[in-house]
Amino acid sequence: MNHPSVPQRDTAEHLPCHHCGAYEPADQARHTEPVHCGPCITCVDKPACFSCRLMYCVCDVHRYRG
Ligand SMILES: [Zn+2]
Ligand SMILES: [Zn+2]
Ligand SMILES: [Zn+2]
Repeated sequence: MNHPSVPQRDTAEHLPCHHCGAYEPADQARHTEPVHCGPCITCVDKPACFSCRLMYCVCDVHRYRG
């Protein structure tokens, strides 16, 4: 009696995100709500999950920490 091992699905459904790939519904606000962060025009109004790659980005929310 051996049934094939089916890959287990994640219990949480992942939704697609333009900025970081995928997210869980519980995290929705981070990925869909725009953050009015200010001086950097590259990342202003992007959701919190967005990473700004601009070298001179001064934004605390979006600055890429790599
Ligand atoms: Zn995201
Ligand atoms: Zn920003
Ligand atoms: Zn920025």
